[in-house]
Amino acid sequence: MNKGLLVVISGPSGAGKGTIYGKVIEQTGMKRSVSVTTRKPRPGEVEGVNYYFRTEEQYQQMIASGEFLETAAVYNNFYGTPKAPVFENLDNGYDVLFEVDVHGAKSIKSKYSEAVTIFLMTPDFDTLEARLKSRGTESASALKMRLDSARNELAKYEMFDYIVFNDTVEQATAEVISIIEAEKHKVKNNIAKINALLAQKR
Ligand code: 5GP
Repeated sequence: MNKGLLVVISGPSGAGKGTIYGKVIEQTGMKRSVSVTTRKPRPGEVEGVNYYFRTEEQYQQMIASGEFLETAAVYNNFYGTPKAPVFENLDNGYDVLFEVDVHGAKSIKSKYSEAVTIFLMTPDFDTLEARLKSRGTESASALKMRLDSARNELAKYEMFDYIVFNDTVEQATAEVISIIEAEKHKVKNNIAKINALLAQKR
């Protein structure tokens, strides 16, 4: 059996990572990597589906016992990816999809170089600003901070394998899925299957 693919969707806040992530999961049946966070649940968020919600003390204990593949502080809260379930899924041949900030993507890639990293961006900065404003949750200074970070994040493009411009949800979802499909057909990702075929008696 081939090992599963580890795919990371990253990019600035407001680019639509959460939406595209949900659509790709829905359409491909890939496994979610459920992160742990110290932030409070938003209405409708479910423990173990969107995140594992933990106190800061519990979170620090998880760091101390080496449970994370990566951990980052994002806008005053901690977010991290538990290692064990990810590698269990990959070893069992399941593809796992991550949605993390740009630091998280860099950290995952440095620890697991086979990870496929996709940078999701709006077609331009005006669209990003409009999307952040339409959320209605940002103060003027927080908005400026997020736009500045977006520019800095895009400037780190070299660490990503792919970029997708999120013009419409349908188009961006289809492009992410086609990237994943192409990766699954790389010869290097099919060695186990090829060897199994070669081992078959004629
Ligand atoms: P939110 O609080 O809106 O759910 O997420 C805030 C930011 O944290 C998003 O950019 C999201 O991609 C990022 N994030 C979520 N989970 C993780 C994680 O496990 N690690 C890292 N580094 N970032 C994460």
